[in-house]
Amino acid sequence: MDVSDLKRRGLMYVLSSPSGAGKTTITRALLKQNQNLVASVSATTRQKRAGEIDGQDYIFCDIPQFDSMVENGNMLEHAKVFGNYYGTPRNAVEEALKNGQDVIFDIDWQGTQQLREMASDDLVTLFVLPPSAKELENRLRTRSKGTLETETQIQDRMSKLNDEITHFSEYDYVLINRDIDKAISQAQMILDAERLKRRRLIGLTDFVKGVKEGR
Ligand code: 5GP
Repeated sequence: MDVSDLKRRGLMYVLSSPSGAGKTTITRALLKQNQNLVASVSATTRQKRAGEIDGQDYIFCDIPQFDSMVENGNMLEHAKVFGNYYGTPRNAVEEALKNGQDVIFDIDWQGTQQLREMASDDLVTLFVLPPSAKELENRLRTRSKGTLETETQIQDRMSKLNDEITHFSEYDYVLINRDIDKAISQAQMILDAERLKRRRLIGLTDFVKGVKEGR
């Protein structure tokens, strides 16, 4: 028996970063490595990029559909990012947490602030920094090949870099993604340590009681 075998509360692991800093790659790797981790699939009004799958990368919807989800209280958080609306559908997240699963979120600082206000005990936040502005621009440009992303959109994202990056200090953890394998392993270490936090281990009281009673 090990503390990781004890019953515990699911946690909400939020990754934010300027676009292109690598959080999507890190998120995908963590999902592959962790059976008990599921992704929150956001709803968005932005255009689908080449290769993206509806229902898997995002739930693509129009503005009236998005607004009605917000009005009906079906969004855990929502925000406008680069002129498009993004939001986290509530049901899937609540269902996963109830089943003892951990949920990973790829959302911006505005959404993170909203989640912090409602679920701070179960929230773990990580901000991913690019090694430099130059490197970030290179990555955005490489990613834009074969997609609908235009030079204007890339420049728009670069111009938002300073706005977004100032929010790093609101996060529990920060890492610099110079080497993607290292960044993935650091993001995994954070998850592993957070899973072992005493306050999440709801099975601990019973276990200690058993030890005291000589079991
Ligand atoms: P992209 O269009 O590049 O997929 O995402 C643009 C930005 O929107 C990223 O910073 C991403 O983290 C953020 N984002 C994606 N989904 C959500 C969401 O559900 N809520 C919020 N607040 N931001 C999101």
